[in-house]
Amino acid sequence: MDASLGKVDVAIVGGGVVGIACALELARRGTSVRVLERGRLGHGCSYGNAGWLTASLALPLAAPGQTFKALAWLLDRESPFYIRPRLDPALAAWLVRFLMSSRRAPFERGAEALIELSRRSVDFWERLASETTEPFGFERNGLLAVYESKQALAFARRRAALTARFGIPHEEWTAEQVRDREPAIRGLSVGGLFFPEDAHCEPYGAVRALISEARRLGVRFDEQAEVLDVSSNGAGDHLRTARGVVHAKEIVVAAGAWSGSFGRRLNLRLPMLGAKGYSLLARRVEPHPVRSIYLTERKIAVTPHAETLRIAGTLELVGEDLSMDARRVGAIVRDARAMLEVGELSTADADVWRGLRPCMPDGMPAIGRTRGARNVWLATGHQMTGLKTAPATGRLLAELICGEAPSVDPAPFRADRF
Ligand SMILES: Cc1cc2nc3c(=O)[nH]c(=O)nc-3n(C[C@H](O)[C@H](O)[C@H](O)COP(=O)(O)OP(=O)(O)OC[C@H]3O[C@@H](n4cnc5c(N)ncnc54)[C@H](O)[C@@H]3O)c2cc1C
Repeated sequence: MDASLGKVDVAIVGGGVVGIACALELARRGTSVRVLERGRLGHGCSYGNAGWLTASLALPLAAPGQTFKALAWLLDRESPFYIRPRLDPALAAWLVRFLMSSRRAPFERGAEALIELSRRSVDFWERLASETTEPFGFERNGLLAVYESKQALAFARRRAALTARFGIPHEEWTAEQVRDREPAIRGLSVGGLFFPEDAHCEPYGAVRALISEARRLGVRFDEQAEVLDVSSNGAGDHLRTARGVVHAKEIVVAAGAWSGSFGRRLNLRLPMLGAKGYSLLARRVEPHPVRSIYLTERKIAVTPHAETLRIAGTLELVGEDLSMDARRVGAIVRDARAMLEVGELSTADADVWRGLRPCMPDGMPAIGRTRGARNVWLATGHQMTGLKTAPATGRLLAELICGEAPSVDPAPFRADRF
């Protein structure tokens, strides 16, 4: 018989940035919470992402105007967006829903909601950075998006006009201004857009600061505690983990890209796909970038930390496959060397990491109660925006569970839409 680990109000499955943010907000409301993590806390997708806290780019993955380009990229193994051709009905169904969601109206509704979630979250991270004893490299120096073609810049101007409507200011810089103000860029550009309110941080450091805040409020964390199955009785659920059984009144599924396969144990059918991306952590370069840089057409994110430079990119729809593809990592290195003063950067002198972004076909996270199940909640599907929206996600979910008036409109994130 499995050992009992005790009773809680809420058990959270998954100790990534989203699950931990939910735990913190629930604990703030006096709820007893336990986070059950299969491996080590914050070592999933939350570990080595680009660390961007950029409301300017808090947009649904499915976007109008990109579809044909994305389709052309699909079969190119070195392109920023790739799907290995395979006969997979789940993938086909996901792609159909993705294309349907790429229409202008759902995209703009989603963008407004995600930007709001992100703005609140970035303010939270800024506050936490000023209070925590665990510094995490938070800097609010803005984001510079660089364009290599007039066509891409024209498209970006229209996108920036949209985000401006939702409260995100920007400035346009000429190619000369880009060169003068950001000498780390050596490739040719036709200009840039600068978003002054954006920020960045060290992603795993941010997770650790969140954990320490949550622990202070009494959250219990269990590592190496994979949730294997769930059974119900009238008074709640028993979650059988690799370390014993936890009894909980409510369950939150925050298992990132694995929420789909885990959800099947709860009879949920979530159209979740993991989208693999890589990051390289290299030594500090000279001149070191002043701010985050987006090499837009190459879809490469560059983040300057105090002693290191992080370079992240590529999106490959893979499901749960975490294998490394040297060709795709090589493509990131090649693009970075073409555009940045990074010397002879190679994979040999950088730490290479990969993670699975949890992606729903409509590009929106699911935050709220699931269809049918009275006590099962979702906080997942944050695709490329999990770090920049986690704190407000946690707050919204905690408000819904505790029956408070929600601080943001929960409708765009409804978890019972699947
Ligand atoms: C290259 C790259 C760059 C990115 N850059 C950014 C960025 O700059 N800004 C941004 O906001 N976002 C970025 N993202 C996206 C961001 O990393 C994710 O949206 C975010 O980390 C998702 O967090 P999560 O907590 O949902 O998932 P995860 O961090 O993956 O956490 C899920 C956890 O659930 C655990 N788990 C799974 N199954 C079980 C089970 N049965 N029992 C117990 N535990 C289980 C896993 O072990 C894992 O730790 C990037 C992603 C990538 C790949």
